[in-house]
Parts: sequence; structure tokens; C-alpha cells
Amino acid sequence: MKTIGMIGGMSWESTALYYRRINELVRERLGGLHSAPIVLYSVDFQPIEALQRSGDWRRAGAELAAAAGAVERAGAELLLLCTNTMHKVAPEIEQAVSIPFLHIADAAAAAIREAGLRRVGLLGTRFTMEQPFYAERLGARHGIEVIVPGEEDRTLVDRVIFEELCRGECHDESRAAYREVIARLEQRGAEGIVLGCTEITLLIKQADAELPLFDTTDLHAERAVELALSPDL
Ligand code: GLU
Repeated sequence: MKTIGMIGGMSWESTALYYRRINELVRERLGGLHSAPIVLYSVDFQPIEALQRSGDWRRAGAELAAAAGAVERAGAELLLLCTNTMHKVAPEIEQAVSIPFLHIADAAAAAIREAGLRRVGLLGTRFTMEQPFYAERLGARHGIEVIVPGEEDRTLVDRVIFEELCRGECHDESRAAYREVIARLEQRGAEGIVLGCTEITLLIKQADAELPLFDTTDLHAERAVELALSPDL
């Protein structure tokens, strides 16, 4: 089994989910007392979030590239960045390492295509929903059309992520509001919904929606375990 590298802490609430899920999957696959060899570099999210807000992606990219290098030097054989938003600086991270980097949007796309869907609604931070790096990856690379919520809904989805979910808070009113956002995306033709922020799964489960949900935290963790156990890597 390969050693899985993780850059996490953005927020740690979701990194904890990755850690648990990866280990659960390894136990399911290998049994006994098997668990995943992991190198985790968990950052302090406050300064990273400040760089996001000020638009200083160059500096954010440099910091995460340095983290990636440290993870590789510590023995990781493949790399996960445990946040959708920071995939905006995925090119900088990929350049900093020689181990495979598993892009979170590719993990989502594989599941969407496997389900036979072509048009999905995207929930995530304002950066993920509004900037091209995520939707274009799904579109140009995988032929998946992305619909994002309207302005008011984007503000709500983003606010709940930063003010509640990243602080470990889940509120019923926010769940109800997200359900309405999902219903509006369905009315506009979405065939499925990408939970394109690694904390949304804390709030929204499949039972909250009629449409199939694509939980990026889970899908990314699954992909990592698949590769870690694959003889081909
Ligand atoms: N974990 C989140 C994501 O998947 C949001 C936190 C961040 O801005 O990095 O996008």
C-alpha cells in the first residue's frame, strides 16, 4: 500500500472526515488491523483564508506548494489537497512535487460520468462557484456542464461554509436553505449536485435531496485509496 499525502486544515473539520474515510476504506479492503499510511500537513486556516479574501493567490499557492514539497519529502507517494477552493492553485502544487496529484474535480467528474450525467449544479465557496478553475476543469476535461446558483444563493452558500461549517456548526435553517438552493438548481436543469466544498457533507446528506449528490470529500478519499492500493501506481 502506498503512503497517502494530504494537505489539510482548510478546514480541519473536513480533513478529519478524510482521515476517517480513508482509514475506513482501507480497513474494508484489507481487513484486520490494516490502516492507511498517511502523511498529513495541516495548515493554520486563518492566514490562508485571509489570502483567499485579499485575492493573493500567488502567495497562497507558494505556501501550499511548500507544504506539498514537505509532504513528499516525508515519504508520501501520492498527494491530495483536501479542499476544492485551493485547487485554484493546483498547477503550483503539481509543479512542486514529482508524485501524482489527485485533482478533486477529476474524482467528482469520474463519478458523475459513471452515473451517466452531463449537467450538474455546483455548490461551494464563492471562489469555486464563480471562478473558472473548477467549472472549466469539469467542462473542458470531462464534458460536464456546470450550473451555479444565482447571486443571492451563492452568497448564502458561501456564508454558511465560512461562518458555520468551517467552525464546526450545523444549523437546521441552513440545511433548509441549502435544500431550497438545490431545488432551484434542479428547476434549471441540474441532473445532479456537486458538493464542491469539503465541509458541505457535514450539513447535507443524500436524504436531503431528490437529485444524486456528489460528495467531493468522499469521492476524493475513495480515489486516493483506490490508487494507494493499486499495483500500477
Ligand atoms: N473546504 C472548502 C472547500 O472545499 C472551503 C475552505 C476553503 O476555502 O479552502 O472549498
